Amino acid sequence: MADAHKAKPAARAIKPASKRVARVIKPATSLVSTASKRVARVIKPAKSLVSTSSKNENRVQLLKAYRRLVKLYGIPLRRRDGTALDELILTILSQNTNDRNSSEGFRRLKAAFPDWAAVEKAPWQEVAAALRVAGLANIKSRRIQSILRRLRETRGEHTLEFLRKMETAAARDYLLAIPGVGPKTAACVLLFSFGMPVFPVDTHIHRVTRRLGIIPEKMSAEEAHEALQKLVPPDLTYPLHILLIRHGRDTCHAQRPSCPQCVLLSLCPTGKRLTA
Ligand code: SF4
Repeated sequence: MADAHKAKPAARAIKPASKRVARVIKPATSLVSTASKRVARVIKPAKSLVSTSSKNENRVQLLKAYRRLVKLYGIPLRRRDGTALDELILTILSQNTNDRNSSEGFRRLKAAFPDWAAVEKAPWQEVAAALRVAGLANIKSRRIQSILRRLRETRGEHTLEFLRKMETAAARDYLLAIPGVGPKTAACVLLFSFGMPVFPVDTHIHRVTRRLGIIPEKMSAEEAHEALQKLVPPDLTYPLHILLIRHGRDTCHAQRPSCPQCVLLSLCPTGKRLTA
């Protein structure tokens, strides 16, 4: 069984997507110039949320921000921890809680059961008890068991590795058809596990891109997935995701952003307004 982890140390846990740390390598000037000529093409949107002319401006704005963030933080290197199913379950645990609690919930879940088959067969109350620190334990435990049951019944084993061979749009559709899996969760699995160019929008990215005027102020996080997917060059999907999260955490805080110290200030309408 691909996702069984019997032989692995029980305490091993993978980091949530937003915790992956950037390692400084080199400036990304060449990457940007190449990538800016390309158009994100993975997901076919049902409707256009941003007009074509403003889309071009927004793409330029995003790439300018990218260059400055790379200069500040360096290019994040993609790393892989755990299996795609691990990533899916960890991302489900991360819903409506912080990274520390979701990581701990995942670690305790792995420690409490020898493999995913045991998690599926256990009474849901035992699963809920194991992951309680991640919050919404009753909902998340049954959601996880339902996913495990679905995989066993439809694929014969607890694995998502078959998604690797699928077209990106088809793999995304497969994940989105699973109850409890939304655009961010699906994107995290596809990007972090398989390197597919699907852009996850978390709370930090949603906030920073709205403040920068790259997406409309009132656009929801769900709509932002569609809009940003069209703006992000495929080969910058991972680094942009990591850099925007880092900047949201370090500087563009939800409350009292540090605009005077921000390298994006001259690009940012919100920052200009707040520091005027
Ligand atoms: S200038 Fe202020 S609002 Fe704009 S990105 Fe920087 S910290 Fe955020």
